[in-house]
Order: sequence, then C-alpha cells, then structure tokens
Amino acid sequence: MPSFRKPFALACALAVSWSLLAGCSNSGDAGKKYAVATDTTFAPFEYTDSKGNFVGADLDILAAVAKDQGFQYELRPLGFDAAVAALESNQADGVIAGMSITDKRKEKYNFSEPYYNSHIVVAVAAGNDAVKSYADLSDKTVAAKTGTEGAKFAESLAPKYHFKINYFADSPTMYEDVKTGNSVACFEDSPVMAYGISQNNGLKIVNDPSEKSPGSSYGFAVMKNSAANQKLLTLFQTGLANLKKNGQLKAIMDKYNLNYDF
Ligand code: GLN
Repeated sequence: MPSFRKPFALACALAVSWSLLAGCSNSGDAGKKYAVATDTTFAPFEYTDSKGNFVGADLDILAAVAKDQGFQYELRPLGFDAAVAALESNQADGVIAGMSITDKRKEKYNFSEPYYNSHIVVAVAAGNDAVKSYADLSDKTVAAKTGTEGAKFAESLAPKYHFKINYFADSPTMYEDVKTGNSVACFEDSPVMAYGISQNNGLKIVNDPSEKSPGSSYGFAVMKNSAANQKLLTLFQTGLANLKKNGQLKAIMDKYNLNYDF
C-alpha cells in the first residue's frame, strides 16, 4: 500500500535525522576525528603483519579505548621522532608509540597512566661473540633510534666507553646496520627486541649487569599547552582505566605475548 508507505518512510527519515541532531547536540564534538600519531615499525606495539595489515598492541589499546569512550580517530604512522614532531607542531592530537613516560618529557607533554613497563637492552648480531659487555663497545660504532630513550641511554654511556653513535629513524634500519656490521650493537626497548629475536631478526641481547639500563613505562601523550587535547587525554585515561578493570588490557597484552603489570 504505497499511500501508507510514503508517510511511514518520511516519519522514519524524520526520526533518524532528529536522533542524529540530538546525538550531535548532546556530545558536542561527536563529529571530531582525533589524529593520533604512531611509529611505523615497533613490533609488537605497531607493525605491518604478514597480510599487510597495520596491527599491534598500541593499536588494539587505542581502538578499545575509542570504542569504550565513543570517539573517532585517524591513525598516522609516521615513525617515532616524526610522531613526536607532529604532536609538537599540532599536526597530531596525541601519540601512542610505545612512548616512555619520563620526567623530561613531562615538562612538555601530559601522559596517561602507564599501560606497559619496559627497559633498554643492547643487542648485537646473533653470530657476534666478541661483545659481552659495554667495555667491548669501546672505540666502536653503535646504532640508536633518533629521539628515543635508547638513544639517550647510549649517549649517557658513550663518554665512558668511547663509542660513536649512528642514528636511525626506525628500528628495522637500525637492526640492518648491526647485521651488516657497520654498527657493532644497537640500543632498543626490551619487549621490541625480544619480539624481534623471536621472529628471527638475526640479533641477540647482550647482558652486562654493570650499568643498569633505565626502566620506563609507556603512556599515551598529548601536548601540555593544548587545552583541546586535554579532552582527548581525559577520554583516553577513562577508557584505559576501564580496560584495566574489565580485563581487556590484559587480553591485549596476552595476544601479543607481552607482560601485564597492572
Ligand atoms: N620507548 C622508547 C621511547 O619512548 C622508544 C619508542 C619507539 O621507538 N617507538 O623513547
């Protein structure tokens, strides 16, 4: 009965548009899409899997938090240093990139509560039996990733052990430099190196207990002086607290074989 259907369809359309309008006016910036910058390859936190999908624990956390808090976002895999630069130049609203929460960084950025605990390790080519301690790095060249805590740790040891540091924008290129023998070792976050080794990246960890490597926790970061992005941080915080409570954060860490300390 067409005479019946038309008004019904109209009523439906009206109801839909009304509810959309109501939805918008209730949540203010429901249409806003936050830009979240991340690293390109920092497995298992963010990386491209064998099927070509960009996946990882950071991405799962962000997706779960956004779902929990009902916000939209667009992911920008830029590299670690570039992600932080994007945040600083207001090209990104937040960063999730296995980013260590440090006192120095807290001067510029506001961080969420931590979601993972990490530390720095030194790795050499799997076949290298000559490097057993930091002292064995003397007068050699090591590799580090620009702007990272690993680079800062290397810089803190360089004067004592007299090694030169080569800087790289991403982890795979840094590992390659060690495998080709151009650099004798590299400085990397423990879970990322452990994952890489489990995937046969051709490296192995050197344990020298003489210098304690700095530990740090990963958090989500926004610019301190951006009032707009404090809103995003609050959403992230609330969502993360919910994921810790309801077991979702642990499930994500289990999925990627990562420790869960919260
Ligand atoms: N956790 C390290 C840092 O924040 C490295 C992060 C990364 O390389 N994505 O400096």
